[in-house]
Amino acid sequence: MKKINIIGGGIGGLCAAIALRQQEFQVQIYESAPEIKALGAGLALSANAVKALKAIGLDQAILKAGNAFGCLQILTEKGKTIAETDALKVAARYGVGNFSIHRADLQAILMSQLPTEILHLNKKCVDVLARQDSVVVSFEDGSQAEADGLIAFDGVHSAVRQKLLPEVQLRYAGYTCWRAAIHYAPKNFNPKLFTETWGSRGRFGIVPLTDQRVYWFATHNAPRQDERMKNFRPQDLYEVFKSYHDPIPDVISHTKESQLIWNDIVDFPPISRYAFGHILLAGDAAHATTPNMGQGACMAIEDAVVVAKCLASNQDISSAFQAFEQKRKKRTQAIVNASYQLGKVAQWDNPVLSAIRNTLFRMIPEKVNEKQIKNLYEVEF
Ligand SMILES: Cc1cc2nc3c(=O)[nH]c(=O)nc-3n(C[C@H](O)[C@H](O)[C@H](O)COP(=O)(O)OP(=O)(O)OC[C@H]3O[C@@H](n4cnc5c(N)ncnc54)[C@H](O)[C@@H]3O)c2cc1C
Repeated sequence: MKKINIIGGGIGGLCAAIALRQQEFQVQIYESAPEIKALGAGLALSANAVKALKAIGLDQAILKAGNAFGCLQILTEKGKTIAETDALKVAARYGVGNFSIHRADLQAILMSQLPTEILHLNKKCVDVLARQDSVVVSFEDGSQAEADGLIAFDGVHSAVRQKLLPEVQLRYAGYTCWRAAIHYAPKNFNPKLFTETWGSRGRFGIVPLTDQRVYWFATHNAPRQDERMKNFRPQDLYEVFKSYHDPIPDVISHTKESQLIWNDIVDFPPISRYAFGHILLAGDAAHATTPNMGQGACMAIEDAVVVAKCLASNQDISSAFQAFEQKRKKRTQAIVNASYQLGKVAQWDNPVLSAIRNTLFRMIPEKVNEKQIKNLYEVEF
């Protein structure tokens, strides 16, 4: 039985462990954090992620824990529609529409599929060494682990990628982001409606979750790692977004400071390789993307399924990882690029340019939108 070590117990790492165990691989996960905590608040997932989850038998459990949308809208700060997607129509075509899930709920389901003894916490990977037919990983605590292959699902700041491709620099998107999941349903709230509002002071997304919970996110143009942004509290965000349509100010004012998560939005330009002999980069470590298309976690889940399939159908690990790179590079990098560009346009704060953008977006023919959705959701593993 071949042994595979996974670095990172996030969404991708946990899904990959499940998929690999189903293919009879012996798997160990090494995670730097002292516990598996839900990093972030909510997530929007789409049909391509569900197709991947179905391949590992988890689609129904995860859909049950999530909230399926009826409609997705992009609005102006006054609440006028810029674009609209009928999620029910998408569901009719692709079997399932977009849905939201609390990160903690998703992680709990993934964790329930794995024996606890394969998850090693407090194991921060600091180095990897390729031997003839194996890979040795070294941890900050001085310990080491060896396996036939190593998959790095260690996120956007991947230590493994930094070792293999030290020249790759993170790219700041130019805007910073706050998120929160709160127990609050605003008055006249439609729990099936996902809205993202584009305005001169930034974007604001409202994503209904289950159990009267709401996940929201806000983006704002700012210098990188800005001290003022770092110290923003809900009251400060209220001041920024108070002129936006309802229920945005109301949602912010029902958010506690302790619920606020802040980070700058970063990705990195497409890299030349994912496969390095018996070492593979996957998920955000290989293709971190800005969250504008809600595809980062979806792609990590797809990666998990594809890598298990490649390993199951190739005797040789380096050939399997090469096959993974071949299958995944074009799709994942196209999404990274499209998402980066979309974010640039969506963050325009010049009122004249924004008005032109909104008009142009309203004119996009239905067929063009449908083609984009097809490209995203119709994925073969
Ligand atoms: C604001 C925001 C909103 C988003 N919204 C969405 C969305 O709606 N839909 C969507 O599909 N995606 C979304 N994403 C993207 C999504 O969160 C990521 O793409 C996804 O989590 C990537 O999964 P991963 O397993 O590759 O990495 P991660 O989930 O980041 O997991 C990496 C794991 O590796 C661990 N780790 C890191 N370094 C080491 C080390 N040296 N040694 C050991 N372990 C290590 C970390 O602790 C972590 O547990 C969003 C991202 C952001 C920033």
